[in-house]
Amino acid sequence: MSSFPLLFDLGSTRPTTRDIAKAVKDGGTAALTEAERRADQARYQEITCRSALNPVKGMPFDWTLNPYRGCTHGCHYCYARRYHTQFEMNADDEFASMILVKKNFVDVLTRELAKPSWTGEYVAVGTATDCYQPIEGHYKLTRRAIEALRRARNPLGIVTKGPMIVRDRDLLVACSRVATCTVYMSVPTVDEDAWQRLEPGTAHPLQRLRAVRELVDAGVNAGVLMNPIVPGFSSSREKLERTVKAIAGHGARFVGCNVMFLEAGTRSHFMKFLEREFPAWLPRYEKLYAKKYAPEDYRKQVQGMVRVLQQRYGVSAREREPHVEARVEAEQVGFAW
Ligand code: SF4
Repeated sequence: MSSFPLLFDLGSTRPTTRDIAKAVKDGGTAALTEAERRADQARYQEITCRSALNPVKGMPFDWTLNPYRGCTHGCHYCYARRYHTQFEMNADDEFASMILVKKNFVDVLTRELAKPSWTGEYVAVGTATDCYQPIEGHYKLTRRAIEALRRARNPLGIVTKGPMIVRDRDLLVACSRVATCTVYMSVPTVDEDAWQRLEPGTAHPLQRLRAVRELVDAGVNAGVLMNPIVPGFSSSREKLERTVKAIAGHGARFVGCNVMFLEAGTRSHFMKFLEREFPAWLPRYEKLYAKKYAPEDYRKQVQGMVRVLQQRYGVSAREREPHVEARVEAEQVGFAW
């Protein structure tokens, strides 16, 4: 705590993520006395970032952009929860209630895009946070970052659960004229109960699908990711079929899916959530998630069923998705969950 006053005694300069991690380590999130609490009860800490374009490995893309860290949508399965531990914050409540805002993000991005060494590679926006979570309405960092990408004629993809993205449809249409521009709306399920239990801070799934419809009608290449499908909550054939049917009915250009995986902070958060709200399911989950991924057979069954449903309702498979075998007929798959 003793170092904390110094941290913010920096004139107009905001702390870096390293400063934040040190302050929280020494004094918990209470040490972030400049973090603003807003109407949603979350606190927002403005920070200075050193870089905007973030290189990643093991993903279908090599570069990501995340104007915020943490997410008030608070999905219990969110794989980004574990990233909050990098800032000495927990992957539970603090992930959804202490949001870091990279105030200088757009300036840094603009400089990086102008460097001779930048070759204009595809950039994925919103992979470790939701770039259209409610606070975007205030800061507009995502919109301004997309404007920078458009000026640079840089290809991009955006993943979000936020219908606020329709605010930027004019810009997304403009991006599409100069480079690849794809919107991946995340709608794991249209089942009301699963939505309310798993994604407490998100917009209703049908509101997200209406946003897809508006984007497609405006000429944006927009589709849906049913990510993640959560065993027992959203994996039954009936729920998958209702979801794919609704996605097709809203004009999505494509659909893809993946079964939930669990690691590090996300794993402990999700198991605590189950223990609290669905204790009877814990033993099955511990067996199904003995490792990071559910067993391959299970994942293939789910993906195979979704593939069959895609064909049935006439919606294309996800763009850029690795080949998924679809030999399993939906009718032949007997899900226990
Ligand atoms: S909306 Fe996305 S980033 Fe936000 S909590 Fe849910 S899964 Fe995580």
